[in-house]
Amino acid sequence: MRLLLLAPPGAGKGTQGERLAVWSGARHIAAGDLLRAEARGGSPLGQEIAACQARGDLVPDQVVLDVLTPAVVEAAASGGYILDGFPRTLPQAIAAAELAARLGVTLDAAVYLHAPESVLTQRLLGRAGQGGRADDRADVIRHRLQVFAETTAPLVPYYTKRGILVAVDADQPPDSVTADIQAGLSALPLAALPARDPGRRSLPGGGKRPDIGVVDTPIDGSF
Ligand code: ADP
Repeated sequence: MRLLLLAPPGAGKGTQGERLAVWSGARHIAAGDLLRAEARGGSPLGQEIAACQARGDLVPDQVVLDVLTPAVVEAAASGGYILDGFPRTLPQAIAAAELAARLGVTLDAAVYLHAPESVLTQRLLGRAGQGGRADDRADVIRHRLQVFAETTAPLVPYYTKRGILVAVDADQPPDSVTADIQAGLSALPLAALPARDPGRRSLPGGGKRPDIGVVDTPIDGSF
């Protein structure tokens, strides 16, 4: 399975990404984690990444592509991937589509996790209180949410037009969110549902049917 998670900070894309990876056998590729690992290396590139992350700004597209492409290429050749936090800009989405085309694969779904900003902020501040990340500070959180709204949210109509968007209410307990994602995926004409239960169209967990982005556009084979 090859899918991506499109979600503002605090929506739970890390949690859901891990669960979906276990469920599907695909590799969980978390953009923020890979970039933080690069930043810890302390190279000049790492220092640039660390500065962007500390401010809550996006890391430049080319840097993100350089860091993520090897992991995507490797995962595409095995069990597929769950992209968590990539792509996050339109140029990244276009570059990802070109990469997928080069690799001869297509994207099965784009899962959009949404929740009110007040809920997202409370979750991130709660995480900060438990030791959280350096960018879980009120001012940086506000900026990260703004960056999402301005730069990443336009990818929602982009993938809706491709007929592969599954929109899920993330303001629910994690199990319900997972069940809704699985229900949404089962309603798409997916090329590859999890191999361990081939042909499965309805999934356990029985979450309520989520909003599914416009699915009248046939999948056109693009990312
Ligand atoms: P969150 O979604 O809570 O902000 P992430 O770990 O996904 O957490 O991202 C943390 C930071 O890493 C972002 O604020 C940004 O600086 C950087 N980052 C992650 N993914 C990308 C990406 N695809 N493009 C540019 N920057 C990214």
